Amino acid sequence: MQKRILIVEDEASIRDMVAFALRKADMDPVPAADARAAQLAIAEKVPDLILLDWMLPGLSGMDLARRLRKEQVSREIPIIMLTARGEEMDRVSGLEAGVDDYVVKPFSSRELVARIRAVLRRSHGEDGEGVVSVGKLRMDGPAHRVHAETQPVPIGPTEYRLLHFFMTHPDRVYSRTQLLDHVWGSSVYVEERTVDVHIRRLRKTLEPFGLDAMVQTVRSAGYRLSADA
Ligand code: CA
Repeated sequence: MQKRILIVEDEASIRDMVAFALRKADMDPVPAADARAAQLAIAEKVPDLILLDWMLPGLSGMDLARRLRKEQVSREIPIIMLTARGEEMDRVSGLEAGVDDYVVKPFSSRELVARIRAVLRRSHGEDGEGVVSVGKLRMDGPAHRVHAETQPVPIGPTEYRLLHFFMTHPDRVYSRTQLLDHVWGSSVYVEERTVDVHIRRLRKTLEPFGLDAMVQTVRSAGYRLSADA
């Protein structure tokens, strides 16, 4: 299946160049000149990935990224930010806004396509069928099932959502606030302590399979899921 890639870029020449490169790479580019057009395009059909220009007229790329992360429909869409040199200093705030990767202008088509493929692989797991694997854990998204090697893992709904988020974003540290945003949604008021409670439950769930150490506490930063305990 062709990957639908939304290109949010106000400069027509870059937009066209990127669209051309993506078409050549057998992807389906959807151009948008500003945040408003991007939101309309997402409402019409959710893309597999968003290329987002940092400097946009009106709502900036960063503000749009934050907004997309807060909405249910767009929360999970991977975002690659397109930045100009010198904007790199703001990488940290970009990562906080939930951006998955950066490509600095000017970039080659080949570099861009390689980064898109890498981010898509990372966010969907290696498998195109909605099955994600991390270490011995396997999650079958469409069937809503989790296995530790061949054994089925009984899991509660919140722990499932938490594990799903971790498994699609392995080896990365998330703060309690970020986990609340991604897993519970920012529209819901939940205390940060709730995250700790569900992390504990998730570890308990994985304990009988000897996989509880995969859920790691990173001191004063948050939590991460990793296959290497
Ligand atoms: Ca721009």
